[in-house]
Amino acid sequence: MFRSISEMSFALRDKLVGFRRDFHRYAELGQLEMRTSSLIARRLSELGYRVLVGDDVGMPGIAMPVPEVLDAALQNARVTGGDLEYLEQVRNGLTGVIGILECGDGSVTALRFDIDALGINEDSSEQHRPTREGFASIYPGVMHACGHDGHAAIGLGVAEVLIGIKDSLHGTVRLIFQPAEESLRGARAIVEKGHLDDVQFLLAGHISKRLPGESCDIIAGCGGSLAAVHIDVTFRGRAAHAAAAPEKGANSLLAAAGTVQQLYGISRSSVGDTRVNVGTLHAGTARNVIADHACMEIEVRGKNDEVCSYMETQAHRIIHCSAEMHGVSAEIKTMGSCDALESDPALMEQVAAACGKLQGVSVHPQLRREVGGSEDFSCMMRRVREHGGQATMLRFLTDITDVVHGSGFDFDDADILPKAVAAMSAVLYDIHGSHQRLGKCYRNILIF
Ligand SMILES: [Zn+2]
Repeated sequence: MFRSISEMSFALRDKLVGFRRDFHRYAELGQLEMRTSSLIARRLSELGYRVLVGDDVGMPGIAMPVPEVLDAALQNARVTGGDLEYLEQVRNGLTGVIGILECGDGSVTALRFDIDALGINEDSSEQHRPTREGFASIYPGVMHACGHDGHAAIGLGVAEVLIGIKDSLHGTVRLIFQPAEESLRGARAIVEKGHLDDVQFLLAGHISKRLPGESCDIIAGCGGSLAAVHIDVTFRGRAAHAAAAPEKGANSLLAAAGTVQQLYGISRSSVGDTRVNVGTLHAGTARNVIADHACMEIEVRGKNDEVCSYMETQAHRIIHCSAEMHGVSAEIKTMGSCDALESDPALMEQVAAACGKLQGVSVHPQLRREVGGSEDFSCMMRRVREHGGQATMLRFLTDITDVVHGSGFDFDDADILPKAVAAMSAVLYDIHGSHQRLGKCYRNILIF
C-alpha cells in the first residue's frame, strides 16, 4: 500500500503544481479567503467528502473584516473563478473548509492546512519565478509568502489519495483548511467550534527551507516556536491648537511614543527568551494640532506560555501608565494569540516510520527541528492533548528563494508537493489502515 500511495502522490504532481499556482495568483488575506475556500469546498465535494463551510466551520472573532472589505473580496472572488454556490456561504468572512471522510468505526484524525496569504507586495522583477512565469499575485499588497498556497494544494492532494485508498481505511479523517493563520486567529475559532474535541491524532505540515548540505524531504516534527499575543492599542486624547493653547490638549502621540520606548525596555526574563515589536504607529491629524488619537499594532512573544504572559502583562501596564501620564485613554484589544509549539515524541516516531516506507521520499534522521516564529496550530495541539490525543507538525523541506514572508519567496513546488502529499497520506494509512484494525483485534484476542 505504501508503494501505491507513493505512486498516486507522484502522479498528482502537475495537478498539485496547478492548484498551488492558482492559489498563489489569487492570494487572499485571512478571513477573506473566499475564492480559495469555495474552490477547496467544490473539489472536496466532487471527491465525495462531507463538506463543512461558513457557520459550520468557524465563528466570528474580534477582528472580522468590515462589510465593505468583505464585499470587495466577494466581488473579486466572483470574477476570478470562485465557486458561486460556496461563495454565498463564506461571504460573511467565516472562511475555511472542513472535509470529512467517514470509514466506519475507529479513531479520528485531523489534518490541518492553512490557506491565507500575507499583506506583502510581491517581487515584480523577472528574477522572481512567479512573476516570470505569470502566476504572481494579481493583488498589490497581498502575497503568499509563507507557502500556505502549497499547504492548500497538499490538502487537496491528500484528499484525492485518501479517496483512492478509502476501502482500506477505518475511522474518520477530518481535513481542516484553516483560515487566518498569520493573524493567529483562525485556529482558535476552529478549536472553539469543537472540531477537535474527539480527535486522537492531529497533524499539520509547513514548507521549510532545506539547509545547506541537506537532502531529506520530511522532518517528522518540530518545536521551539514562540507563544505570541497580538495587541492593538488606541489612545484617545484631546486636540488643541499647538501654539495658541497647547495646554488644553491631551497628547495621544506622546502617550504612544512613550509606550514604544518603554515596551522595548521590558526586562528580559530568566524564565525564557522574549520578543516585543511595535509594527505600526499612526497618530495625529495635522502639524499644528495636538494629536487627539494614536493607534499602534504590537506583538509580544515568549519561549513558553508563562514568559509570553509576563510580556503581555508588562505591555498592558506600560500602555495604561503612558496613557495616565499624558491624560489620555487607552483601549487595548487582543487581536490574536497562540501557544508555544512542541510536537509529541511518540507521534513523531510514528510519522518517521510511516514516511520511511514510501518510495521517492526521504525522511530526516532527526525527528524534530527547532523552528522560530509563531504558529497558531499550537492552539489546536493544546485542545487535542487536553483529552489525551497526540499532535505533530511536520516540516516539508525544499529549496526556497527568499526568507519566509519575503517579497521574493517562492519554493520548488514540483519537488515538494507530491512528497508532502505522500507523507501525510502514509501517516493516515498507518493510523487508519485496515491492517491496523486487524492488528488491534489480534492484540485484543491475545489479551483476553
Ligand atoms: Zn506559515
